[in-house]
Amino acid sequence: MKSFHCTCGNILFFESSRCLRCGFEVGFDPIQNTMRVIDRSLKRCANGVEHAVCNWLLPISSTEALCASCCLNRTIPDLASRRNQQHWSLMEAAKRRLLHTLNALGIPLHTMAEDPQNGLAFDIVSTLLNPAMTTGHLNGVITVSLEEADDTWRQINRQQLGEASRTLLGHFRHESGHYVWFRYLSRLHWEHPTRIAFREVFGNDSYDYSSALNRHYEQGPPANWQENYISAYSASHPWEDWAETWAHYLQMIDGFETCDHLGIRGGGINLPLVILPLESCALPTCLSSRMSSEDADFHAWLQRWICLAAVLNEISRSFGAPFLYPYVISAAVARKLRLVHHFANIWR
Ligand SMILES: [Zn+2]
Ligand SMILES: [Zn+2]
Ligand SMILES: [Zn+2]
Repeated sequence: MKSFHCTCGNILFFESSRCLRCGFEVGFDPIQNTMRVIDRSLKRCANGVEHAVCNWLLPISSTEALCASCCLNRTIPDLASRRNQQHWSLMEAAKRRLLHTLNALGIPLHTMAEDPQNGLAFDIVSTLLNPAMTTGHLNGVITVSLEEADDTWRQINRQQLGEASRTLLGHFRHESGHYVWFRYLSRLHWEHPTRIAFREVFGNDSYDYSSALNRHYEQGPPANWQENYISAYSASHPWEDWAETWAHYLQMIDGFETCDHLGIRGGGINLPLVILPLESCALPTCLSSRMSSEDADFHAWLQRWICLAAVLNEISRSFGAPFLYPYVISAAVARKLRLVHHFANIWR
């Protein structure tokens, strides 16, 4: 995330609604892509005014009441419950951060009304009260279980599923991976070079999805999954591997943006680091027949990330906390991230 400042010079965060130094009302203006003091040209999103769950702004002249993030909601929780409202607020904050990163990547987003074929919508619902619904993506609609905003619930799920990390933001990023797959990849012919490249890197996605997931939940991942996958769940099916790798890529984009804005370089640290083979950052041969300067740039980018990750983990170790970055980037994972990076560039 970028760093923001109030007109008084104080630091503002992406989630801020008020400057803690000068007391001015502030919010995020998605048109100018920055935090701003609310002047006469701006108004708060109605979900911010009425429910305190949103800090995004709109031009005062807009006929819309909801901001660019809230207008993507198709279903919101029952607000008769105060607890639902608190959880919804956490969900919206995670969702806005996802949208900010997709925006930074230049991926255009529209509502279902604006673009019925490629539009995006969110259902944020209690899956306890609606057991037929689960967190997932279908035809442009991302559903996220409201219960995931409950820390205890999420930690229990994380431990039961053997996950290294489980966050609301991670859910939104993961499901956005299924959405971009649906939007850009699913409609391409099986023999399209993009689909061939996908299969070469992520594996053959023609085998039955639900039986693959059932097998994963019954038998767990292969013992050596870390050699090939960013997470254990990635090993369940190439579509899940894609969504997990996509989510990881978005995490890196956001993480790098934060470090760059705070002046954290991460180079020259005194840690023995894994040096990835340069070939692991080459595109599949059906897309490019030889190593390019972009492959080398990506390799340097990934190496810098591995360096930063080591710093983050050493810092969390000194606080006695779990690893902030509990992941291993193997050569196979680097190859997947390289393809995600390539696709993200051509989709902008
Ligand atoms: Zn201020
Ligand atoms: Zn809003
Ligand atoms: Zn998934």
